[in-house]
This record gives sequence, C-alpha cells and structure tokens, in this order.
Amino acid sequence: MNVFRESRKQLTLFYTVIMACFLIVLIIAMHFSMKWAVSSEQARELMDMAKNVAASQSFLLQHPEVHFEESYDMRSTSQDRLFFYVFDEEGRMVNFSRSSFLIEPFVLDIIHEWRQNPIDEGDVAVFSRTVKHRPARIMMTMHPVIVEDELVGMVYVGKEVSAVYNGLQKSTYAMAALAVIALIIASVVGYVMAGRAIVPLREAYEKQRQFAADASHELRTPLAVVMASAELLENDKSITSPFLKQVISDVRDEVKKMTKLVSDLLVVARSDNNALKLKIAKVNLTAAADQTIRMMQPLAEKKGITLTREGDTESEIILKVDEQKIKQLILILVDNAVKYTPEGGKVTLTLTSPAKDRANLSVADTGIGISKEDQEKIFDRFYRVDKARSREMGGNGLGLAIAQEIVSLHKGTIKVESEPGNGTTFKVALKSLQ
Ligand code: ADP
Repeated sequence: MNVFRESRKQLTLFYTVIMACFLIVLIIAMHFSMKWAVSSEQARELMDMAKNVAASQSFLLQHPEVHFEESYDMRSTSQDRLFFYVFDEEGRMVNFSRSSFLIEPFVLDIIHEWRQNPIDEGDVAVFSRTVKHRPARIMMTMHPVIVEDELVGMVYVGKEVSAVYNGLQKSTYAMAALAVIALIIASVVGYVMAGRAIVPLREAYEKQRQFAADASHELRTPLAVVMASAELLENDKSITSPFLKQVISDVRDEVKKMTKLVSDLLVVARSDNNALKLKIAKVNLTAAADQTIRMMQPLAEKKGITLTREGDTESEIILKVDEQKIKQLILILVDNAVKYTPEGGKVTLTLTSPAKDRANLSVADTGIGISKEDQEKIFDRFYRVDKARSREMGGNGLGLAIAQEIVSLHKGTIKVESEPGNGTTFKVALKSLQ
C-alpha cells in the first residue's frame, strides 16, 4: 500500500538525517578536541624547551669559563624534530640546534618575521608551507634570554609537527569512513524497524479495507433485488394512487444512489489492495469519448447544457489501455462537469494526440468552478466542496478519487484548472501501456 510504503520511507529518511547530523557534530567535536589536546601538549613541550634553552643560554653567558663542549649537552637535549636558534641583541646567531635542512629556510623566514614583529611571550603559533611538494607544518615559540634583569637575546624554539597533524587528519578521515558505515547500518536498521512499527497499523487498515470491500460486495445483491422490485412496482398498473407512485419512485432513486455508492466503495476498497487489475487492450479512445457523450447527452439536454467534443474529430486515437476504466474515467469527468454547471452552460470534451501512443483528454465546463484550497482536496475520498449540493446531485465524493486511481493505474497524470465562477477544466494525459 502506497501510504505505508511512503511513511516507511519518510520515517527512515527522517531517522537517517537525524543520525547524519548527530554523527557530523560528533566527528567535528572529536576532531577539534583531539586537535586541541594534541596541540596543547605540543605547545607545552615547546614552551618548556624554550624556557630551558633560555635558562641555559643565560647560564652560559654568565659563566664564560664553561667550555663550549660542556654546553654541548644543551644541544643534544633537543629531541627529534625539535630545534632552536638563539640570537643576541645585535641579531647574531649565538647558539642553535638546527632543524632539518628542508624546512630550515621556512624556519628562518619566521624568525626573521618575528624579529620585526615579535609575538607575545608564551604565545605559540603553527605555520604551514609546501616544501618540496609536501605540506610542512611547524609549531614555534620564542623566549627572551635575560641576564641580570637585562634582555640579552632571544630563543626561537620550534618543532616539526607535520606528522602529528597528518595523523590527526587521517584519524578524522577514518572516523568519517566509520561514520558513513554506521549511517548505512543505521538506515537499514531504521528501515526494518519502521517496517515493523507499521505492521499493526497495516493489519488494522487491511481489516478495515476488507470489511469495506466485503460489505459493499454483500450489499450489491440485496440492492439489486430492491431495485428490481421497485421497478416492478413502478410498472404495476394496479397501483393508481399518486402518493404510492411517488413513494415508489423515491425508493427507486435512493436505491440507485446507494447502488452507485456501494459500487464506488468496492472500487476504492479493491484499489487499496492492488486488486484492481487492468485489462489492457487496444482501445479506440475517440469512439469511447463519443459513446460517453451520447450517454450523457439526454442529461445535459435536460439541463440545457451544450455537450460537445472537440479536437481530433476526424482521425482516431488508439491506445493500449483498459477500456472499461477509461470509459468510467471519462464518465466521471463529464458527469461532474454537467452536475456542476448551471443551466445554459457548456461542457466540452477535447481529445488530442500529442504524439504516437499518447493522448490528452480534457473536460472543460463553464460551471461554478473550484477554489484554490478545494482544488488540492477534491481528489480525496469523500471530499465534497458543497456536501448538500453534491448529495442532491447524487454524488458521494468518490468520483474524482476513482478517476485519479484509474489515471495512476495507467501511469498517466490528471490536473485541474479552475476559477470559481468561471468554470473548470480537468486535464488527463494518457499513454499506451506495454
Ligand atoms: P461528487 O460525487 O461529490 O461529485 P467527486 O469526487 O466527483 O465527488 O468530486 C468531488 C468534489 O469536487 C465535488 O463534490 C465538487 O464539489 C467538486 N467538483 C468536481 N468536479 C467539478 C466541476 N466540474 N466543477 C465544479 N466542482 C467540481
């Protein structure tokens, strides 16, 4: 059943979108918290190193008697990927532990820049640049060398952090890939669960539908018997009382309306179960339209309505469709047009063939029209714009629902164009099936 399939799809989609939003937020939060944790750890290490180097440098300056070789330790303390450069106040490099030669020009550029515009003490910055076609990232900080309260130089400490950031990026990608897999699994589970949730609803609906189908089917025979009896009584010459004749005629009219309602109900109940099967054959649509017009002509004449057919009146339009259903469709549309058009109006059925195996059918009237809000609802079951008027005309609000069902069974389209007071046009596009 379409409505269940649709709501199952919508539930799954809704669930997937919520899961996707949740996963995206989670990945972004994880990425940034990991980045923050990694970079704060790196920054702390860098600042410790900067302080150590600055302290060692000021020690060296205060104790010139310490031999350089002894201070060599200071350089060897620099771990892998860590590097530092010490400059005195005149801008001479007085000590260093070099970075890798590949990134050294990059590091010296930053130092040069910082000598012009120093950053605040304790600040750490990350720089990236493409070196030999590979992205290089370095984290740097600076620290003053102070001897007896006097600034005598500056230490620039840095670390190559490309590998750390690359690892971080890779783990984010891995998390994203896992999230996509989790999302697919969640959608499948969501689809299955939504299907399960719908089972009791579907069963209850199915019971209702079956009841409607059975009831209308069972009602058909007694109604036919009452109808036949009423007709028999109507033709009975022995009944002469005008009052009785009127009663019999009223009974016949009501039974006629009920028979129509019951047969419409049966069509609707069967269509819900996809039990409405098409009997496809080559059908002469032109002939079917003309036949309907002939059938409706007496009713139209009674109301003083001109009922005509326009379009391709000469050539014949032949499509592979279900003849009975298409005739029923045309009948519903023409019947409505006559019903909702006041005396003296015009109803025109137009049949054209825009291409081979295609047909456009339109039924236009000069009747009361349908407002914009109602146009959206008239194809709903039992919807009637003016209930009293529709009932008076013998309508039950199922006609257009059946018309739409027939069109969708034929994979066609039905549209309405209308302006209250100015008439209505129903446009149907059909194509050959198979
Ligand atoms: P009904 O049996 O009441 O005619 P339908 O499903 O055929 O039921 O139509 C639904 C409602 O749409 C009608 O009650 C009527 O108000 C409106 N309607 C249908 N066709 C026309 C038309 N040609 N002109 C104006 N109103 C229409």
